[in-house]
Amino acid sequence: MTPGDFERNEQDKQIADRLGKVDRKILVMSGKGGVGKSTVAAYLAFLLSKKGLKVGLLDVDLHGPSIAKLMKVQGGFDMSQKGIVKPYAFSPQLSIVSLEMMLGEKDMAVIWRGPMKISAIRQFVSDIEWGDLDFLLVDSPPGTGDEPLTVAQTIPDAEALIVTTPQEISLADVRKSINFCRQVNMKILGVVENMSGQLCPHCGEQVPLFGQGGGEKMAREMDVPFLGSIPADAKMVTAGDKGDLEGLTSQQDLEINVAYGDLLKVVLTQ
Ligand code: ADP
Repeated sequence: MTPGDFERNEQDKQIADRLGKVDRKILVMSGKGGVGKSTVAAYLAFLLSKKGLKVGLLDVDLHGPSIAKLMKVQGGFDMSQKGIVKPYAFSPQLSIVSLEMMLGEKDMAVIWRGPMKISAIRQFVSDIEWGDLDFLLVDSPPGTGDEPLTVAQTIPDAEALIVTTPQEISLADVRKSINFCRQVNMKILGVVENMSGQLCPHCGEQVPLFGQGGGEKMAREMDVPFLGSIPADAKMVTAGDKGDLEGLTSQQDLEINVAYGDLLKVVLTQ
């Protein structure tokens, strides 16, 4: 065994040990960026934590980490002990770790080269001490390349929740994501159709902005569970930009919240 193999085995053991205290791990994936993957991960994390469950939210989207912004995380995490990252406690029920919190200067582009990406993701996952959790939601890099593959291999007992928008250009990539999960033997929790029709801010009627129902049809064709649809609502953009998704979750009669409530029930019963 080479020193590299030894180190890798030790890291695998550490990952298994640390993630062994987490009941359910959900990888939130998407075929492409911009479909609302981070928003779905963050929103579900909030809703689960509001149910009194212990929840972790991990953002390992190397090129577009956005969880810290969406949730207005006001600080870093504790790295005072070597090899241990203590997550940021957003609330007693919700802990957050985002790569963004480590990257320092705002708006700096980080150039990650091939092998560096893989070791950064593995190192990052292995160093975080979450403690006991009911759920860990992982905002995974989009697509089916090296980065999501590394995340999937690093957390092999995770379930994939795949986010898409209804139009064909997004669905084509989701089919690849489903095949990717099948190839790496990852359980597919199901598909969520985000931005499924838009609610007109004036009359409240549904407007088919990116179409509607494409995600459900595709899920049926690909023989994977369909978990639900979330409408597009400009309030989501405003709340995300302000870093106040939490504020939005408390407006219970909004159609997006009714839809998220249904999605939550499905996730809890799977
Ligand atoms: P991704 O992680 O897939 O790149 P994000 O979660 O960052 O996507 O979302 C991209 C943009 O879409 C953000 O501005 C976000 O606020 C917005 N968004 C996400 N979901 C919805 C929705 N249901 N309605 C309206 N805007 C949304």
